[in-house]
Amino acid sequence: MSQVPDLAAVKAMDDADPLRSMRNQFSLPEGVIYLDGNSLGPASPAVFNELAKAAREEWGEGLIRSWNSAGWFDLPVELGDRIGRLIGATPGQTVVCDTTSINIYKALHAAMGLRRGRSVIVAEGSSFPTDLYMAEGVISTQPDARLLLEGVDAPTIEELIDDRVAVVLVNHVNYKTGELRDMAALTQRAHEAGALVVWDLCHSAGALVVDLDGARVDFAVGCTYKYLNGGPGSPAFIYVAQRHQAEARQPLSGWWGHARPFAFEPRFDADAGIRKFQCGTQPVLSLRALKAALDIWDTVDMAAVREKSLALTDIFIRLVEAKCAPFGLALESPRGGAKRGSQVSFTHDHAYEIVQALIARGVIGDFRSPAIMRFGFAPLYLRYLDVWQAVEILEEALRTEVWKDERFAARAAVT
Ligand SMILES: *Cc1c(COP(=O)(O)O)cnc(C)c1O
Repeated sequence: MSQVPDLAAVKAMDDADPLRSMRNQFSLPEGVIYLDGNSLGPASPAVFNELAKAAREEWGEGLIRSWNSAGWFDLPVELGDRIGRLIGATPGQTVVCDTTSINIYKALHAAMGLRRGRSVIVAEGSSFPTDLYMAEGVISTQPDARLLLEGVDAPTIEELIDDRVAVVLVNHVNYKTGELRDMAALTQRAHEAGALVVWDLCHSAGALVVDLDGARVDFAVGCTYKYLNGGPGSPAFIYVAQRHQAEARQPLSGWWGHARPFAFEPRFDADAGIRKFQCGTQPVLSLRALKAALDIWDTVDMAAVREKSLALTDIFIRLVEAKCAPFGLALESPRGGAKRGSQVSFTHDHAYEIVQALIARGVIGDFRSPAIMRFGFAPLYLRYLDVWQAVEILEEALRTEVWKDERFAARAAVT
């Protein structure tokens, strides 16, 4: 699309949207335009029902019997396979457990173990910080290990990849700018140098077409509480390519990763498959919320999700640039769709206050330090009309300078 759409065009796009009916499956509060599903996806009636059932019947009535009778024990691998469908992973390679941070630790450690004699982890200086913090944790356990960063130790990640590198840790979509990395090309580049890759899919799982098996990815991790809508703090996932599972060792060798957890043997003997990447008892109620959230995804075609995501972000950029031109916003996300995830960021000197003023008007986006206004576009429940209205409200907030009100300057603990 090359022109700025008008209201009639926007409504026509909603009418023609093949994902249109999906919105009915979510519980979105009245008067809210939710552009933060890339931080915390919304709830749904199906999740509320599932939580009530899991709490009242399975826990309340079934008690300990529910580990077997309600299938609690197998939930991590069952849900892992269902996420696998959304990220291009055939069954048996993905398990839901722990947090993204913890899974990064396990994946990096396992990758280093598969590349003994190599001592370098390469990552992005612009990575989501927890990824780097966990990499620091891994190198602190290994003599001579080093962490080299794109943007610090060399301008591009490719320049850092050589035969000293054990593993390359990359964010598929940058959390601040929304820039999308070429997974197949970078994975191939790492493999040519004999290194392994860990892809962090936090901002791509549920937002775009991901093909882990096709790109011959080694390890991947990601959240389930962002685009997958699993609920606050819902457990993360980890993908380990089949070809590495027998040899890979993860350091958090808890009893859920044991080949026979209920034999209660004194020595650790890892499960041969993906279960070895679990550690201890998983949060069953959160897993049940995630299960209901994934039911919604069962019929969804990821190509249609990507197509709508690109249209939503494209229209948002065009409308903001057309209507808010005088107010000093600068696009921080790639203009070309092929390089963009499912979010759009603009910088502004008063980004924090403007985001707070928008939230007070029902348009929920978020602020990222130092000066980014970030808007996420989740195709399952957003309408083109929402994009239109969000830009109208943004234009009004900028024109009237309502954001200068001092109540919008106070910073909360979580931004
Ligand atoms: C959201 C996010 C995380 C979060 O990790 P947690 O362990 O769930 O807190 C990690 N990495 C990236 C790239 C993220 O976007």
